[in-house]
Amino acid sequence: MERCPICRAGLNGAETCRRCRAELATVQALERLGRHLVGSAMIRLATGDPAGAGRLLARARLVHATPAVAALSGLVKPS
Ligand SMILES: [Zn+2]
Repeated sequence: MERCPICRAGLNGAETCRRCRAELATVQALERLGRHLVGSAMIRLATGDPAGAGRLLARARLVHATPAVAALSGLVKPS
């Protein structure tokens, strides 16, 4: 996360926003978890386990839905 989701100030890696003092450690941890789940899903997809990838992407959607999560979900569950 590069900017505070509340006031949009730059964070420069800080867990507390310098402008509005929002505590963002929990949000940042969820973002990291989402990235980890997406990475694991990509590995599952590359190794021929689309069902496993789909389960990981479903979890990723819950913790940190991003365009990448939506795009990869489209690969494992074509509509
Ligand atoms: Zn802020």
